[in-house]
Amino acid sequence: MSGFQKKALWIALEGQFRERISKDPADGAEQIRKIVSDCAEMGFNLIFPCVRTHDNTNGYTSDIEKNYYGWDLLEVFCEECKKHDIEIHPWFCFWGDGARVHPESTVVDYDGSLTDIGDGNLTMCPMRPEAQEYMLSLVTELVERYPIDGFHMDYIRYPHRPCYCDYHRDQFRRKFGIDPRELDEGSQLWDAWNQFNVDGLTDFVGRVSGKVSEAGKKVSAALFPCGRHAVDSPDKPLVLNRIVPGKEMGEAQHNKRYWAIFQDWPYWCRMRYLDYAAIMQYTPHLDMAAETAEAGPTLSNGAQFIMGLGLIWDQTADTLVKQIQLCAEKGLTGICFYDYFHLMDWSESDRSKVVASLK
Ligand SMILES: [Zn+2]
Repeated sequence: MSGFQKKALWIALEGQFRERISKDPADGAEQIRKIVSDCAEMGFNLIFPCVRTHDNTNGYTSDIEKNYYGWDLLEVFCEECKKHDIEIHPWFCFWGDGARVHPESTVVDYDGSLTDIGDGNLTMCPMRPEAQEYMLSLVTELVERYPIDGFHMDYIRYPHRPCYCDYHRDQFRRKFGIDPRELDEGSQLWDAWNQFNVDGLTDFVGRVSGKVSEAGKKVSAALFPCGRHAVDSPDKPLVLNRIVPGKEMGEAQHNKRYWAIFQDWPYWCRMRYLDYAAIMQYTPHLDMAAETAEAGPTLSNGAQFIMGLGLIWDQTADTLVKQIQLCAEKGLTGICFYDYFHLMDWSESDRSKVVASLK
């Protein structure tokens, strides 16, 4: 018997998976009803359906951004979750600005070029006031409009590297008297530069959390693992130079300058900005999962720790079941899979094996 109280699924309605949902409202609603009933049947009691993506489109009704499907998925998700007694936190991708709403706010690389977060996508600088206000307006609209239990933040970080936009450089220069582009790693103000970025993001997360809590909802987030390093050195600026090497890490990102995401989620938990911390431990390696499982409950500091396991890359049903057993042995109370569609694409026997191990 596992002690999992929160059995969660991300529902990756982004990229290719968006196309699996019909743009016809009647057919689409039927598909959503099936997704939620599948989740209930398999025993999941918490879902994170993706409702906002980097191209500034969504799956709900907004006065600010466009609905990708032309009908309101979230409304159906909410109705169905209520029927099946499933907790729902819509998943929201931060910062992406495919629609170029704030072209002046794009993250800028060290060499002055605009940062490409993959496939030519640009993203807004997490520190700029206009970017923050824009994202906050979206969050406020969503949490005030829907009968949801919580709000799930994703990409609530820097895009693997710092931003050297004019605003960043001006603000840092004002405070520390030097352009951050002149700093080398290890130089006197290097830690201050890291902390400056960490603090800018943390302040924003505090504001989002305030808005969501005011609306009476829980705050959850998809986060990078950081393991023992963060337990051993809680006062070091968290640049997350221990990101688990995986296929998402290109060669260039092994240069430390490109490893920074400035996502100090243990501190967010200490500040009570997060109610749930869902860690994306997407690796079949049991030792890495063990480290995250051991460090997680300490780092989440009272927030609900949720171990997020991937059904992607080299993961198989057998390696996944071993990880689930490990989480149960470590006494974890929350588990999540990335994601529903991957799980449904596995064979019936693999899926049954995984679902059985959650009991
Ligand atoms: Zn910037």
